[in-house]
Parts: sequence; C-alpha cells; structure tokens
Amino acid sequence: MTFDFVIIGSGLAGIYAALLAAKKGSVLILTKKKLKNSNTFYAQGGIAAVFSDKDDFKKHIQDTLKAGAYHNNKKAVEFIIRKAPEAIRKLVQLGVNFSKDRQGKIALGREGGHSEARIVHHFDFTGKMIEETLVQKIRKEKNITVYEGTFAKELLVKNGVCYGVQIIRSTKFENIYARRVVMASGGLGQMYAKTTNPDIATGDGVAMAYRAGCKLKDMEFIQFHPTAFHQGKSPLFLISEAVRGEGAILRNSEGERFMPRYHELAELAPRDKVSQAIFQEEHQGPVYLDFTSQAQHERKLQKRFPQIFRYLKQHGYHLAKDLIPITPAAHFSCGGIVTDLHGKTSLKNLYAFGEVACTGLHGANRLASNSLLEAAVMSGQIVCSPLPKKASDPSFKLPAKMFSKPVSTLKIRSSLQKIMWEKVGILRTQKGLTLAEKELLSLQKKLPVPDSIENYETANMVTIGLLIIDSAKKRRKSLGCHLMY
Ligand SMILES: Cc1cc2nc3c(=O)[nH]c(=O)nc-3n(C[C@H](O)[C@H](O)[C@H](O)COP(=O)(O)OP(=O)(O)OC[C@H]3O[C@@H](n4cnc5c(N)ncnc54)[C@H](O)[C@@H]3O)c2cc1C
Repeated sequence: MTFDFVIIGSGLAGIYAALLAAKKGSVLILTKKKLKNSNTFYAQGGIAAVFSDKDDFKKHIQDTLKAGAYHNNKKAVEFIIRKAPEAIRKLVQLGVNFSKDRQGKIALGREGGHSEARIVHHFDFTGKMIEETLVQKIRKEKNITVYEGTFAKELLVKNGVCYGVQIIRSTKFENIYARRVVMASGGLGQMYAKTTNPDIATGDGVAMAYRAGCKLKDMEFIQFHPTAFHQGKSPLFLISEAVRGEGAILRNSEGERFMPRYHELAELAPRDKVSQAIFQEEHQGPVYLDFTSQAQHERKLQKRFPQIFRYLKQHGYHLAKDLIPITPAAHFSCGGIVTDLHGKTSLKNLYAFGEVACTGLHGANRLASNSLLEAAVMSGQIVCSPLPKKASDPSFKLPAKMFSKPVSTLKIRSSLQKIMWEKVGILRTQKGLTLAEKELLSLQKKLPVPDSIENYETANMVTIGLLIIDSAKKRRKSLGCHLMY
C-alpha cells in the first residue's frame, strides 16, 4: 500500500503533522492502540510560550538554556521559542480551548525553572483537551486513513533512504510505502520501574531508527519528574509542577522543608535538581507534597486542579489538607533521533517530530512544558520541504513467519525496568552502569524469537536500555539530568 505520508504515532506530534499533511496529500496514521493513547493525553501542566507583557523571548530562551545545562542546540532553542506564540494561536484556530484569565486573555501558569508565568494550559488536563480536540478533526479529514491497533515494527531502508515501514496489523505483517515517513512515536518512560508514562512509551521509534542506521543523540538524558503520586504501580499519577508553581512545598519524613537547602529556587528549581534532592531525602523516609497552606482556599484549588484534586480524593488524600506521598519517576527522554529544524533525520525521507526526536531544544534537561511546545512547532514543519515526486517500492520482503503461540516476555521486561531504575536512574556510577550493561546483555540472550507485539516491544526496550547505558558510560561527568557519582 502507498501513501504520500505515513505517520507513526498519534500524540500531538503525529496528529498535528497529519492535519497539516492532509492538505498536501494522502496520509496514513499508524498507532499502537487507540488514537488518543499517548503521552500527550496525560500532559497536565501545559505549553510554555511568551504571552505576558512582563515576559520576552530572551527570558524564555535563557530559562531553557539554563535548565538544559547549556548543552542545548542554541539555534533550535531560538527557533522553537520564537515560534511558540504562533503555534499556540494555530492550535486555538483548530478549536483547542485554553483557560482564560478574568480579562479573557490566555491564562498563564508558572512552573519550575521558568522566570515568568508562561504556561498556557487547560486547567490541569491540557494534554487530554488538545488530544481530544485534534482527534475529532482527524476523524473528519477525508485525506487521512487511521490504522489503530497497528504496530510499526521496522523502517524500510535501503542505502540510506527510507521508503516506508513494516507493520503488524491483526497479527499480519504488511509493508507500507510513502513519499514521506514521519516518526512521531513518543518517549520511553516504560524503560523504568517507576514512570509517569503510559504503556505505549516503550521507545520503539528510537530502536527502529537505530537499527536502520539513523543518527541518535543524548540518550543518557532521561528526565525524572519529582512529584509522581507514590501509590500503586506504574504508570504513577503525576502531580503537576503547576501545583508547586501555586505554592505547594516539599517536606521530608522529619517534616522539614528541605528544598531551600538544595537550591535557591527551592521547590521551583529545575526538575533535575528537585528530583535529585527528593532522591537523597528518600533515604531517610518518605517525602511529601504539602499544600496545606491553601486549606482555606479549597474551592479555588479544586477549580484550578480538578483532575489532581479528584484523583487524590479517590485514593484517600485531600490536596489541601493532607501531606501527599510523592516520588520521582522517569518522565521524559531529552535525546533521541537527531533532526534539523525541518524535522529531517540522517536518513533520506525520514522525518521525526516530538519526544522521539532530538532537535537539541532540551539539552541535558528539559524545561517544564517545553515538550508539547516542541511537538507543536516542529510537527508544523512537515510541509516545509518539497515531497519526492512519487513513492517507490523497492519490494522489501515480508517475514515468512506468522504469529503462532507467543512466549510472554513480561518477566524479562520487569527485570529490565528494575535494573534501569536501580542502576541507570537518577544517580549513576560507572560500576553500576557496567553491571547494568552486563545484566541487559544477559536478558537480551533470553529474548525469544519475537512472535507477538509484546515480544517486539520488549526487544526494543532492551536495545534502548543498552543505548542509554552506552551514552551514560561515555559521559563521565554529571550534566543536567545525568548525575554521576
Ligand atoms: C503524565 C505526563 C504529563 C506531562 N505533562 C506535560 C506538560 O504539562 N507539558 C509538556 O510540555 N509536556 C508534558 N509531558 C510530556 C509530553 O506529554 C510529551 O513529551 C509529548 O506529549 C510527546 O508527544 P508525542 O506526540 O511526541 O508523543 P506521544 O504523545 O507519546 O505519542 C506517541 C504515539 O506513538 C504511538 N506509538 C509508539 N510506538 C509505536 C509503534 N511501534 N507503532 C505504532 N504506534 C506507536 C503511541 O501509541 C502514541 O500514539 C507530560 C508527559 C506525561 C507522561
């Protein structure tokens, strides 16, 4: 089958790119589960953009560089941040409804690492609202075909040119060819025992690109969000940074407010600093989020954070009256497939947008709410370069074997997640990394010949683990969210 565009992933990067591409040609969106199953759907805080009179691009750029430990690609930072207000306006034109202040202007929240209020949001469920609005548009677009429940298995690449993607759909293999192939497969939080990322985030896109010989970068920079609700199994429910932005503080098991000891911005320090401080304090006992200062303003909080308020209540906690147990959890991959400012990768005809890509915006650590921004600005680049005349089909063979009785790899997967959390997590040592590598190589040997989507995902996760370890071992000194002891 042949399309003008094939887009792998249906988070913000994939669906926004699809809506624009549909004006130029036929589009196929491939997505593992339902369209809305994505990291995007879970985003709470919002999108960073300069809108306030007090703010300017220079400040947003400086905050991004500082959070990224100046490891960022300055051109990408300038480009994406200057395009942010325009990207927000385009989303509004598509029907995305951001919260307004009393004057009817876009309301702006404040988050860690930002020197001004600049987080455009929809209460505390910004991602859900964006995803649902754009999915409605996708469903109405005649030029867009959607394959839900479809797994992108391998890129079809010959001599440095990407011709399409091999998929698994209803347990059958199929080759799809396209004039432009877009990787928008999101992140890889599921690599870790504790994560905020849903089960789709297994790093397939980076693993596929790696096997195809595509250039990758900065794989060691995994951001751990400081305040995941510490109850139940992963994915852990996120308590948005915006809650600290509104005044919540952190206390250790002794009841001490410890953040001022670690950073001058205290609870609003960049994420790596807050996560690392919590990680240290957790050695003495549990760490809590304390918003009891707002006990008098319960209704206001309920209005600003309806989702968080409701979720905590369902789990026996009151946002403004109880100390809420929290823990850091794997949240975001700063590195990935290297792209230029058009989203072009090192393989001809392969583009990458969103969390799977490494434009260099985030450097060694992402500034809060800069990732939806990157997805929105960069996927808007899909139609900026001319398409090849027609899609070619150099007849890639399909695997002969169809699915029979798959062996479960879930035990291998949970061993991998534990190893990654303990030895390749918030705090790393050369010894721990070397041991983790040895353990992953031994897990790799235990992988069965893949015979299910789950098997392919687990194999991808082992590949990603080894890539993260390899990059982490090479970076011997701490930088951003890569903390070496
Ligand atoms: C709980 C949470 C809160 C967050 N809050 C914020 C926030 O407030 N602000 C912010 O800027 N960022 C936030 N982030 C990060 C942000 O949501 C993501 O970085 C961003 O949504 C990534 O968008 P994306 O389109 O690149 O990927 P995703 O939204 O993750 O979409 C990836 C898509 O690819 C599909 N896919 C993956 N592999 C395959 C495969 N092999 N075959 C077929 N399909 C595949 C998935 O099913 C999914 O549809 C948050 C993340 C989480 C988890």
